[in-house]
Amino acid sequence: MKIIDGKEISNNIKAKIAKEVEEMLKKGHRAPHLAAILVGEDGASQTYVASKEKSCKEVGFISSVYRLPDTITENELLNTIKFINEDEDIDGLILQLPLPKHISENKLIEAIKPEKDVDGFHPVNIGKMVLGQETYLPATPAGIIEMISHAKIETEGKECVVVGRSNIVGRPTSVLMSRDFKPGNCTVTLCHSKTKNLREICKRADILILAIGKPEMIDETYIKKGASIIDVGIHRVEDSTKKSGFRLVGDLNYESAAKVAGAISPVPGGVGPMTIVALLQNTLKAAKKQIQ
Ligand code: NDP
Repeated sequence: MKIIDGKEISNNIKAKIAKEVEEMLKKGHRAPHLAAILVGEDGASQTYVASKEKSCKEVGFISSVYRLPDTITENELLNTIKFINEDEDIDGLILQLPLPKHISENKLIEAIKPEKDVDGFHPVNIGKMVLGQETYLPATPAGIIEMISHAKIETEGKECVVVGRSNIVGRPTSVLMSRDFKPGNCTVTLCHSKTKNLREICKRADILILAIGKPEMIDETYIKKGASIIDVGIHRVEDSTKKSGFRLVGDLNYESAAKVAGAISPVPGGVGPMTIVALLQNTLKAAKKQIQ
C-alpha cells in the first residue's frame, strides 16, 4: 500500500514558490501579500490562520491578519473588506470561516473582489471553475487535485466517488474530477447524508474522496481492492497514550482500509498541507497578475 505523502509534496512545491518569490524580489517587485480576516476567538480558526501565516513566512510572502472582535457588525466587516479590496499592496484576501451567526457569510464572500479571492469561494470564481475557465480554484479541492497529480494516480475513465457535498470541499472536488483535464476525466458520483447504499457505491470507486466530517467512518468494507483514497476529514480523538491526550484521525479507518487500499493520503500529513500550498499558489498567481 502506497502512502500519499502530502507533507513531502507540499514541501517541494513550497520550495519552488520560494524560488519564484526570490526572482520577483530580484526584479524589484515586492513579495506577494496575503491578508486574512479573523473574527472572534474560535480556537480552530486561530490555529488555521496561524499555520497560514507560518507558511507565508516560509516562502517569503508578506502576511497580515486583521483580528476583529465577534461583536463587529456586518457593515464594519464589509468596510474592512472594501478597504483591503482597494489596497494595491495586498494581492489575496481570505476570510476565515465560520463567522459569528449575525453576519451573512454569503454577503461577505460576495464583497471580496474576485481578483483577490484566493480561497476561490466567490460565486464568480466558482462559476468559472465549473465552466473550466481560468480562475482561483478553492484551496482544498485544488490541493487534492495537485496531490493526485504528484502521486501519479491515473484518473482518466476511472470511477471516482466523492463523499460529502459541501461548497468548500466535496462539491467543487467532484466538479474538478469530472473535468476534461489531467487529472480529471473521471466518472464521478457525489454522495451525501441522504445517499442510499453508500457502502456499495464507495466499493465501485477507483478513487474514493472522503469529506464527511465523521471520524474513522469508512473502513475496508467500503473499499475496492487497490483503490486510491484521499481522506480530507480531520478530527481530534482522545488518546491517553499521547502526551497531548489526543490524536488526529480522518474520515477513514486507516488500519482497516490499509488492508485493501492501493494508496491512502494519511491524516495528518495528507490533504492538510496541500490545502495551504494551494492557497499560496493562488496568492502567487494573484501577485503575478498585479505586475503583468
Ligand atoms: P461539511 O460538514 O460542510 O460537509 C459534510 C458533508 O458530508 C455533507 O455534504 C454531508 O451531507 C455529508 N455527510 C455527513 N454525514 C454523512 C454520512 N453519514 N454519509 C454520507 N455523507 C455524509 O464538512 P466540510 O466539507 O467542510 O469538511 C469535511 C471534513 O473535512 C471535516 O472533517 C473537515 O474538518 C475537513 N476539512 C479538512 C480540510 C483540510 O485542509 N484538511 C479543509 C476543509 C475541511 P449533507 O450535505 O446531506 O448534510
